[in-house]
Amino acid sequence: MKDDLSRPCNLCNSTEFDVLSTRDRDGEYLRTVICKNCGLVWSDPFPINPSEYYQKNYRILYKGTFEPKIKHIYRAAKTALNRYQGLKDYLNGKQQVLEIGSGGGEFSYLLNKLGFSVKGIEPNEGYGNYSKSEYGLDVQIGFAQNTEFAPESFDFITTSHVLEHVDDPTLVLKKLHGWLNSDGILAIEVPNVEATCQSPKSTFHTAHLFNFNQATLSLLVEKCGFTVIKTFFSSDKGNLSLVARKNTSPSPLSNLTIAGNFEKITTIVRKHTALVHYFSLSPYIRLLNKIPRLLEEKKAMENFADAKSVLDSCYKKTLPH
Ligand SMILES: [Zn+2]
Repeated sequence: MKDDLSRPCNLCNSTEFDVLSTRDRDGEYLRTVICKNCGLVWSDPFPINPSEYYQKNYRILYKGTFEPKIKHIYRAAKTALNRYQGLKDYLNGKQQVLEIGSGGGEFSYLLNKLGFSVKGIEPNEGYGNYSKSEYGLDVQIGFAQNTEFAPESFDFITTSHVLEHVDDPTLVLKKLHGWLNSDGILAIEVPNVEATCQSPKSTFHTAHLFNFNQATLSLLVEKCGFTVIKTFFSSDKGNLSLVARKNTSPSPLSNLTIAGNFEKITTIVRKHTALVHYFSLSPYIRLLNKIPRLLEEKKAMENFADAKSVLDSCYKKTLPH
């Protein structure tokens, strides 16, 4: 095993690290390291080249399809409604919205229908083009890193399950800072590295270059010129959300150390063993929750002719009449 790093910590720039895991969820070799100074967790070396991976392969590897299936759209619609509930107070009074990683377009379409002016960026051609043709969305195919907008073009920037995939989260957040208006809002959702709802062998994914907890995500966002307003978790604690306001005159943070965070994350990850997991209730609760959901999904599928009718039907109650 190599005992050096291929890059310093993206949050605090330290090179003091420990190895947290050497396997991904398929049992393949994947070295996951943790910064001893702040607790940021990342894959080192990066197992993939993100720009090639996301343009073509990602959805195929994950879902076995290049365009979303009706079943996936139905699930994504429910996720989009949930996401909207968590963010609607912060969207109040905003108009120009940007979604980074708009995927199949379900969330952008919901916001569009609610009267917001929405732009999207999506690296996967299959999904991005699908969202344009099915829902008429304004989506650019590509990465935030390679996209240009005029400074202060947006009131609200939202990104869900993207930041863990990018090769330089600091660079991306600084770019988003420049695109936001002076009182603009940034909303981020990522997997929570402290989650124990999943099987322990599923904690680290090849596609997730970075793994965050509440403390590292908050400090990263503050370092990039934002003030954190709120952080919250999904009901199973599997996902972590953060809402922040752009700081117009940020002063550089002098201290990027998070005392005790390295020890905290290491303890949680090491204690989350297969034995503990399968003796706890969470895998069985997960399974039990899945059955009615699958039955309901199967029944709902019979009524839908196309993608748009899935979303329109799911969003009916939330949209103004
Ligand atoms: Zn660090």
